[in-house]
Amino acid sequence: MADNPDATECDCGAVAGPLGVCVDYYHAILSEEQTDPRMYRWHAPVVCAYLLQHPYRADEKYLDGQFRQLQLYLDKGLDALLRVAAHQVARNKHGARSGYDMAPLAVYEPLPPGGPPRHFRATFCGLPFRGGSFVADGHLTYGHHIEAIAEATVESWKSLQRA
Ligand SMILES: [Zn+2]
Repeated sequence: MADNPDATECDCGAVAGPLGVCVDYYHAILSEEQTDPRMYRWHAPVVCAYLLQHPYRADEKYLDGQFRQLQLYLDKGLDALLRVAAHQVARNKHGARSGYDMAPLAVYEPLPPGGPPRHFRATFCGLPFRGGSFVADGHLTYGHHIEAIAEATVESWKSLQRA
């Protein structure tokens, strides 16, 4: 941890876990969820939270929509987010327009300027990974961890406004 000078630090400020930095955890999640439909339900908040914690790896023009999606997830729950995401996919298939339909997301706060935040109290490389799996303790437990990361992400970005 902080007293170990050899510990690798991720660009989000987190100290690396057994699998490495957050990108290593992110790729392991994307790989495992491909074979686990229940785990895949959290795909959207995983992607949004990961990109908002590591915005240098993201396409800047989508970050605002991703920030609002996380707020909708925390406000209305996973099913509500999945409905918006399904609507997005249908819309992108049928129309030439790209990007997010902002209507369901318009009530949420825009991404504050001045980011990224330097610290998040819950991070991807803090996720428990046991026996080669993220869902060793069950899918609901995994969901609670993702929700905690989503909360930490929104909290740190919103704190930029108050700084
Ligand atoms: Zn990180």
